[in-house]
Amino acid sequence: MGGMRFPAATTGGDPAMSFGKDDIGWTPIMEEAQRATRVLHPETLDLPRPSHRRVITVANQKGGVGKTTSTVNLAAGLALHGLKVLVVDLDPQGNASTALGVDHRSGSPSVYEVLLGEISLSDAAAQSNQSPNLWCVPATIDLAGSEIELVTMVAREGRLKEALNSEAVNELGFDYIFIDCPPSLGLLTVNAMVAAHEVLIPIQCEYYALEGLGQLLNNIELVQAHLNPALWVSTILLTMYDGRTKLADQVAAEVRDHFGELALRTVIPRSVKISEAPGFGQTVLTYDPGSRGSMSYLDAAREIAERGVERTTE
Ligand code: ATP
Ligand code: MG
Repeated sequence: MGGMRFPAATTGGDPAMSFGKDDIGWTPIMEEAQRATRVLHPETLDLPRPSHRRVITVANQKGGVGKTTSTVNLAAGLALHGLKVLVVDLDPQGNASTALGVDHRSGSPSVYEVLLGEISLSDAAAQSNQSPNLWCVPATIDLAGSEIELVTMVAREGRLKEALNSEAVNELGFDYIFIDCPPSLGLLTVNAMVAAHEVLIPIQCEYYALEGLGQLLNNIELVQAHLNPALWVSTILLTMYDGRTKLADQVAAEVRDHFGELALRTVIPRSVKISEAPGFGQTVLTYDPGSRGSMSYLDAAREIAERGVERTTE
């Protein structure tokens, strides 16, 4: 672990024991969602399990491009097909926590206390109401001050990585960990990039979509060069695609031109169901399993799972 040490980060209590405290059991809505996905998408059953834990940071400093929406829906897609998934909400807005139905009122155990080394990550993780396989470390508004608080801390860029690499988290056996970044390239996003192997960049099929992408890629290169040589951009996901506009096709073509195979074949359409779901504390996969938005996120999740296995067996 590159010599990084955060004495208080993983101590205090038995994290494995306390992890079960939010266990909420299996509810009819989960059962319904799983049944619906089976009926509607039999081909997506049994997504392959990666040979090792995949940690994927979802980043783009541009606001409102679909980072959070993609994080929670991809995570739900994988979880509904039997893989164990953790979402780390690293945005003080707490939108991923909301979509996963996890409490993130100020003061509740969250990623903020984890980064400060006050509690372990497994103590902050809560089970989502969408699937027994889906967990979330919520973000509260307290995280808003952390960019400043972290500056003076030891090994400030590696605190999330250290927290994720604890024995208690390993024992929980997550196949996937998604980290939802805030719309900035500050210390929180750097922590996410240091903690991950992969970066997933959602790109909105709109004018100006590619603006700022160079800066994001530069930052990723800097992290690669100085903090995390294993990091790479593994996935580009085109979001909010509106087939009625020529512009969407132009942006998609330009992205494919530039990123080639890194761009998933699946494109996420603009869909009212996708935007409505978080208002009900749900992902679109449970909110409306048969909708186009739900199917597209499932398809994208399957592509990610299959590509990961191809790569690890190469
Ligand atoms: P931020 O930078 O603020 O964290 P973000 O990149 O996480 O934003 P989201 O919050 O996922 O972006 O999405 C921005 C808004 O667009 C939200 O209101 C969301 O519901 C909506 N949205 C996302 N994807 C879609 C879609 N495919 N169709 C329709 N609305 C969408
Ligand atoms: Mg967001």
